[in-house]
Amino acid sequence: MSRFFSSRYDALSPYTPGEQPQDRRYIKLNTNESPYPPSELAVRMAQEEAERMQLYSDPDCRSLTAEAAKILGFSDRELIFTNGSDDILNFAFMAFCDETHGAAFPDITYGFYPVFAALNRVPYREIPLREDFTIDPEPYFEAPENLFIANPNAPTGIALPLPLIEEIVKSNPDRIVVVDEAYVDFGGESAAPLVKKYDNLLVTRTFSKSRNLAGARLGIGIACPSLIRDLQTIRFSTNPYNINRMTMAAGVGALRDTAYFKECVHRITNTREQTVRELTALGFTVLSSRTNFVFAKHPGIGGEELYLRLKDLGILVRHFTIPRIRDFNRITIGSPEEMQALVHAIKKIL
Ligand code: PMP
Repeated sequence: MSRFFSSRYDALSPYTPGEQPQDRRYIKLNTNESPYPPSELAVRMAQEEAERMQLYSDPDCRSLTAEAAKILGFSDRELIFTNGSDDILNFAFMAFCDETHGAAFPDITYGFYPVFAALNRVPYREIPLREDFTIDPEPYFEAPENLFIANPNAPTGIALPLPLIEEIVKSNPDRIVVVDEAYVDFGGESAAPLVKKYDNLLVTRTFSKSRNLAGARLGIGIACPSLIRDLQTIRFSTNPYNINRMTMAAGVGALRDTAYFKECVHRITNTREQTVRELTALGFTVLSSRTNFVFAKHPGIGGEELYLRLKDLGILVRHFTIPRIRDFNRITIGSPEEMQALVHAIKKIL
């Protein structure tokens, strides 16, 4: 840290993204990317847009908003786009949380929430998951803070049923409830339709997972118009051009290509079920996943050791050193061939 770094950030310990090593070719099952390329339409539209790069992008994201409104069934005023959904989560902390409006989220969840809280100097409380890693909804009813709930949760992969999400939203009319649906397309139930009924609900989604655009950086927020206006105030006060031209065009293409989206999701969920069967047969405990990854542990080998041994064999998975989950690894669902290679490597290690 230089002597110029603001003391405002004394307590800040930045988010650690999954490894992106360049030293050799790995089978990458560590950052929940799609094993499939983007839609051809998305690529073509982004390529065409690249020829207009000398011009700023549309700060109102009109083409993307119109397409999303049509495909997802919301009005323009209920949608906001950001540079990945990480951006909108940060905007939610900036817009709705402060010293007196803290945040609460599960103790085991997306590791960026505490970072955004620290960045924005927001006090936060971690609510323990149950022993079986499911969310106990009780502590979320009439909570004293704004709530951030990844549903399905990460890295567990477990989903909270929609009626419980609705009860949480309903019981907190004076708090914001952010439901982070990064993985919802792989088998979760979306809370997004509830934004028509509750003015305290913000649903976030991403194009990084089910729409194969992690590198393009595109996220969506869905909420009632007054919350969207607040988030736009933050966006226009930080970077109104946060969606570049190519990403905007790719997003339109990815939304339009519904058939390809459905095919990829279908393939990934099928591969997931096959992987769960194979890992279970090898003696793993695999949590019930509604996402494009599985969270698994084996009684015969520690989480870190398995991670390191797989890495030696050219396969990357994600290991977390948090005590409650250090026996586990989070394994992204890749192509069937990649998962066969994983199972083969695990058999060798065991
Ligand atoms: N929420 C959760 C739960 C995630 O796992 C991720 C991906 N790391 C994100 C949000 C952010 O994804 P992105 O910024 O790529 O949209």
